[in-house]
Amino acid sequence: MRKLGHLIGTAVLAAASHGALASDGADFGRLARGAGEPQVPGLRMVYLSPLGDPAAAPWKHIILHQTEGPAGSARGMANAQARHPAKRGATLWVETDGTVYWATPETAVTLHGDGANRNDNKYIDNSKTYRQVTRANSIGVEFVGNFPDVRRPPTEEQFAAMLVLVRFLQERYGIPPDRVYAHNWIDYKDHRYCEGCSLAERARAQGYRPGLAEPKTASGVAGRGIAAGQ
Ligand SMILES: [Zn+2]
Repeated sequence: MRKLGHLIGTAVLAAASHGALASDGADFGRLARGAGEPQVPGLRMVYLSPLGDPAAAPWKHIILHQTEGPAGSARGMANAQARHPAKRGATLWVETDGTVYWATPETAVTLHGDGANRNDNKYIDNSKTYRQVTRANSIGVEFVGNFPDVRRPPTEEQFAAMLVLVRFLQERYGIPPDRVYAHNWIDYKDHRYCEGCSLAERARAQGYRPGLAEPKTASGVAGRGIAAGQ
C-alpha cells in the first residue's frame, strides 16, 4: 500500500507540475495577445498608445536599434514619436533603467531602417533580409543612452528588459527567434560600432518560440500559447 500511495503521489505531483507549466504558457500567451495595457511580469511598460488586435498589425520581424540620445531621453523621444508616428524612430523606446515606452499605435509604421540595404552576408545570411526586412513589416525598438559618440553599450537593465520584451513581441505577433535582428545586420550602419548587435545576439540566444509559428491564420488564435513555456 505504501508503494501504491507513493506512486499515486508521484502521479499527482507530475500532473500538477505539468498543469502549472501549461497554464503558465497559456497565461503568457493570453497576456501577450491582450488589448489595452498588458503588464508583463518583470517588465515596466508605459503605454502612450494602448494596444488593440495583434492580428491587425503587420509585424513579421523585430529590429533592435541603439540611439545616441542620453540617459533620460527615452520618454521624450517616445512622446515625440507618439505625436508624429511616421517620423524617424521606432514603436518602442527603452530607457537606461529598463523602462519601456510603447509610443505609437501598433498598426502605425514608423520611419526606421533603411530599406534593408545590406547584402554582404557579414553577420547573417542577407539573402533572406535584403530589401525584405523593412519598416513596413518590422517592429522597431530603440535603446537610448549610447552617448556620447556611441561609446556606451546597453545597460544591464536594458538587456534584462529586452529579453522579456522580445519574448512578449514574439508571442504577440508570432515571430520566431531567427526573425529578431540588430539594425546593423540588415542595413549598412554607423561604422563606429555594431548597432543593436549585442542586444540581438542575446535575444536570439534565449531561443524563445511563440505558441504559434505562423500568426494570423484563418482559424484565429486557436492553439497559440500551448508551447510557450520558455
Ligand atoms: Zn537603427
